[in-house]
Amino acid sequence: MIAPDERPVLRFAPSPNGYLHLGHAYSALFNARLARELGGRLLLRIEDIDPQRSKPEFEAAILEDLEWLGVEWDGPVRRQSEHFADYELALERLSAAGIVYPCFCTRGEIAAAIEGRTNWPRDPDGQPFYPGTCKGLSDQDRERRVASGRHAAMRIDVIAALGRGQDRLGWCEFYEGAEPRDVNAEPSIWGDAVIGRKDVPTSYHLAVVVDDALQGVTDVARGMDLFNATSLHRLLQHLLDLPAPRYHHHRLLNDDGGRKLAKSASSQTLRDLRQQGVSAQDVRRELGFA
Ligand code: GLU
Repeated sequence: MIAPDERPVLRFAPSPNGYLHLGHAYSALFNARLARELGGRLLLRIEDIDPQRSKPEFEAAILEDLEWLGVEWDGPVRRQSEHFADYELALERLSAAGIVYPCFCTRGEIAAAIEGRTNWPRDPDGQPFYPGTCKGLSDQDRERRVASGRHAAMRIDVIAALGRGQDRLGWCEFYEGAEPRDVNAEPSIWGDAVIGRKDVPTSYHLAVVVDDALQGVTDVARGMDLFNATSLHRLLQHLLDLPAPRYHHHRLLNDDGGRKLAKSASSQTLRDLRQQGVSAQDVRRELGFA
């Protein structure tokens, strides 16, 4: 018997900026099955930090689609937009440690700064590495920019952060039935990533790390598309003294998933399928969760 407070904690964490599609269904069902197998709890977190793209109607649709799919979660839903104070606190801590700095640059200014530089490095999202323009600004220069009405994002100084003493940063990876393996984190692949946006006092990376810790998440199961993000998440966890969950980066849906359900199955929304008469049982069977 696992004591209640030692039960593994998993989460499904969709962003309400569109309707759930088969790829989300796969991730939700994967989490639900893993929670069942581990005797754990499954939490639902709504990642709605983006004020422009997040819509209440998408959140309502997420809850409805998950119920239709038969995915049940434990406890209240955590909505990130209601917890900006938690992320701000984490940012302040990193600022106090001298490993983040305000960056006033626009995308255009960054593009201009690196123009003509061949083979300029890019992060896993395809964005150019930040060239460091604002890194060495004096307090006076910063004040001048603020006074002229410019907003600042907060960037992590990845070189300084990596100098903060851990011998080795890595994580334990489980991958769909394979033996667990140790993976080395390589946060420097992100350059000086934004961890606080200009419009909200966090970024996806910081909010996820803070929430996973506050919610006691022990097992993060999410798509392979976020594998590289885990390197940065491990660095932030280390800097903020947060525990490291285990990670399971599951496959992404492509031709071998949902083939019978639709032609471009992985981008088909669950409500489209429902309207076409596809049942939740069909979806579960097709994705291998019958
Ligand atoms: N909110 C992210 C998404 O919808 C998932 C984040 C995560 O699982 O860490 O892609």
